[in-house]
Amino acid sequence: MMFERAEWFNDAACATTDPDIFFPEIGDSVSGPNARTICHHCDTRTSCLEYAINNRITDGIWGGVTARTRRRIIEQRNKETVWD
Ligand code: SF4
Repeated sequence: MMFERAEWFNDAACATTDPDIFFPEIGDSVSGPNARTICHHCDTRTSCLEYAINNRITDGIWGGVTARTRRRIIEQRNKETVWD
């Protein structure tokens, strides 16, 4: 799946990193933690996470957050919207 390159990506800590580590294979116990460490120090972390959530990106680590956790965030936000 291709996404339009967002402006915040110009300041991304991962811009010069192997993108494969942000899309770890099942059972890969190295890439995911390495990616999250890079994200932790990234100035665009919040924009990156919101981009992935808003675009319902279902794979990879964005903003230091896995797809599973992003699904939980979306579910939580949907619940909050219903009750607001
Ligand atoms: S938060 Fe992580 S995935 Fe997002 S731009 Fe920064 S380094 Fe890349």
